[in-house]
Amino acid sequence: MSDPSTPRALTTDPFDDDKLREECGIFGVIGVNDAANFVALGLHALQHRGQEAGGIVTYEPETGFNAVRKFGLVRDNFTNLNVINHLPGSLGIGHVRYSTAGSKGATQIRDVQPFFGEFSLGGAAIAHNGNITNADALRRELIERGSIFQSHSDSECIIHLMARSLQKTVPERMKDALRRVEGAFSVVAMTRTKLIGVRDPLGVRPLVLGRIGEEGWALASETCALDIIGADFVREVEPGEMVVVEDDKLTSHHPFERKSSRFCIFEHVYFSRPDSSLGGRSVYETRSAIGEELAKEAPVDADLVCPVPDSGTPAAIGYSRQSGIPYAMGIIRNQYMGRTFIEPTEQIRNMGVRLKLNVNRALIKGKRVILVDDSVVRGTTSRKIKEMILDAGAAEVHFRIASPPTAWPCFYGVDTPQREKLLAATMSEEEMCEHLQVDSLKFISLDGLYRAVGEVKGRDADAPQYCDACFSGEYPVAPADQIEKGFTLKAAE
Ligand code: SF4
Repeated sequence: MSDPSTPRALTTDPFDDDKLREECGIFGVIGVNDAANFVALGLHALQHRGQEAGGIVTYEPETGFNAVRKFGLVRDNFTNLNVINHLPGSLGIGHVRYSTAGSKGATQIRDVQPFFGEFSLGGAAIAHNGNITNADALRRELIERGSIFQSHSDSECIIHLMARSLQKTVPERMKDALRRVEGAFSVVAMTRTKLIGVRDPLGVRPLVLGRIGEEGWALASETCALDIIGADFVREVEPGEMVVVEDDKLTSHHPFERKSSRFCIFEHVYFSRPDSSLGGRSVYETRSAIGEELAKEAPVDADLVCPVPDSGTPAAIGYSRQSGIPYAMGIIRNQYMGRTFIEPTEQIRNMGVRLKLNVNRALIKGKRVILVDDSVVRGTTSRKIKEMILDAGAAEVHFRIASPPTAWPCFYGVDTPQREKLLAATMSEEEMCEHLQVDSLKFISLDGLYRAVGEVKGRDADAPQYCDACFSGEYPVAPADQIEKGFTLKAAE
């Protein structure tokens, strides 16, 4: 397999805006001319799920498997005809990443997915969104048994487990491999003739199925990636389901013991794009409902409701609608500032959040402002935004947060600071309010969040309907590797 990738590592993001980061987006198509173009567009729509690097693998009978993996954005790497021409075929998969699991130290190009394995029965490529929570133990075992790893990525374990399986087809080998894996995984994979999609038994990370015309199929992390290529949304891949498409025929398999779904509730709050839909409802609508619930739970007398852009916008609209307090764009985001702004000087770095956000002074001056944000992680950005609003002459600043306090790290494919760095891990709501020096600070309750995402009775404490571990500390899959490294579960505190 040829791979003309560029070995270049990015510097760390100097404009870190203090958010949890989804680590990956995945996409795959079969049954279309020039699959690489479709994959590039799909990945472009999923760019919010990972901006560090991306890769595409395609298959064409004459040239076999072809791959391109590059650091940087999809639009900078995969719009070039020289690159796309290197990826012929009607079947392809791709991956965008923003990762920590494979980047202990600087990320290497070999950590960039999709990964490829050549087996006795033919090759297969896989792209994974999520995190394998027993990857360290699996890796040790595989290395002891002779496997030679190419990358630091936990996802590579799947390829080695497949290589060791004695099954006769790639899907059967993949089932064997994934039964050994713990944690969260949505996977798209391909052989020479098949497109495969799998979700872990709890369905923690998303994966949807789409139809392109009468002969093509697509798999994507989110529906917005189907929209961009004009595919029709068919359905979500079910938790614990494997779908295999070959010769325009789709078969569904259930290789794991059936479990109740524990989809990531934070996808509703922040990770997914607002124009995607989850569980049959638009993400935008859900976020507005979160804002309405927040206004019911945490009202305050004020003059304006302003979102912290862009992720706080739908919740701020909901808060304004419910409270009757006017909505205003009090903070404007510079859409063109971001991770492509390379190598800033120390002086520019110190400007921090002002490079990305600016206050609309004429609106803010003398007003009591409610700022709606999706979450508070370390609190560093919240504090800077509060200072900007006060500098602009606001009379009062009230923070309203569209998620409960983030007090626990995520081990299921989301980049989270260590627990002690999370503001809510060490402070109560009152202490956080004091720390941020705002007039008031309120988070939506966990029950309120569940109601807003459509669970009218709130959270079922005995059998929670979602993964909410970063709020509750109740991990639906024990993070085995982390526990081995000394992480203490809530029950053991
Ligand atoms: S811990 Fe939080 S971010 Fe991670 S999967 Fe669960 S709900 Fe999502």
